[in-house]
Amino acid sequence: MEPVLNLRMVSFKYKGEWVLKDIHLRTFEGEIVGVIGPNGSGKSTLLKVMDGVLKPQEGDILLKSRPIGSLARAEVAKEIAMVAQENYFRFAFSVLEVVLMGRFPHLRRLQFEGERDKDIALNALKATHALHLSNRSIHEISGGEKQRVLLARALAQEPGVVLLDEPTSFLDLKHKREVFRLISSLSTDRKLAVVLVSHDIDLIAQYCGRIVMMKDGIIAFQGPPEVVLTPESIEKIYDCPVFVDINPATGKPRVSLRG
Ligand code: ADP
Repeated sequence: MEPVLNLRMVSFKYKGEWVLKDIHLRTFEGEIVGVIGPNGSGKSTLLKVMDGVLKPQEGDILLKSRPIGSLARAEVAKEIAMVAQENYFRFAFSVLEVVLMGRFPHLRRLQFEGERDKDIALNALKATHALHLSNRSIHEISGGEKQRVLLARALAQEPGVVLLDEPTSFLDLKHKREVFRLISSLSTDRKLAVVLVSHDIDLIAQYCGRIVMMKDGIIAFQGPPEVVLTPESIEKIYDCPVFVDINPATGKPRVSLRG
């Protein structure tokens, strides 16, 4: 199968030190890649480079075999949707208005959204179980509801790739589970290639086919959860003692702090 996004020997620096070094990473339709690693290891930067917002100084990124640097911003945005960490809205847009923003890359200059765009936005809200929120203000919904709305905005873009930066960081256990389940079913149903940064290692282990473990801007380990989530690899990247056993309910590795 052809990778949707293909990063080859990618290195990036803001200025001074390299923040990403020799990154090799491919994403495929219907697969969720989980990215973990300590604060400052380069996870958010990696997503921004994959989104084409930051341009790597070395290496190249192919989007469906075409160099991402050769594509116009709107072309990239038709294929790649990002759910970023910062999502502050200055104005009290309605939820539907926020989701319609996902249609911008598909509109021509000075064109307004039409009925079809609205249908796509409403469908996206339906898919993320947020249709009932359509007329609410984005300022007046809960954290879990907001994540579902932002996911709907990403889907309204009709992308092949969805990048998510810590989508569950402020959510309680139930809502974390809900978001992961939702992402998982959307990835399967819509054949999306998903890249998800999260500190919820156990949920990553449960829902991701592949895990990328970052440390100091490099991919220290990459592979299926059963293979890469070992005490040695986790201790190496996080620099703290852990033990790993198997969650009897899921059969996937489970990571706990050792004291
Ligand atoms: P993570 O998401 O893993 O916490 P980041 O990608 O945010 O890591 O940051 C990686 C490194 O890049 C850090 O050393 C951080 O200080 C630096 N960095 C992040 N954003 C910028 C920026 N806009 N300008 C300069 N350095 C940055």
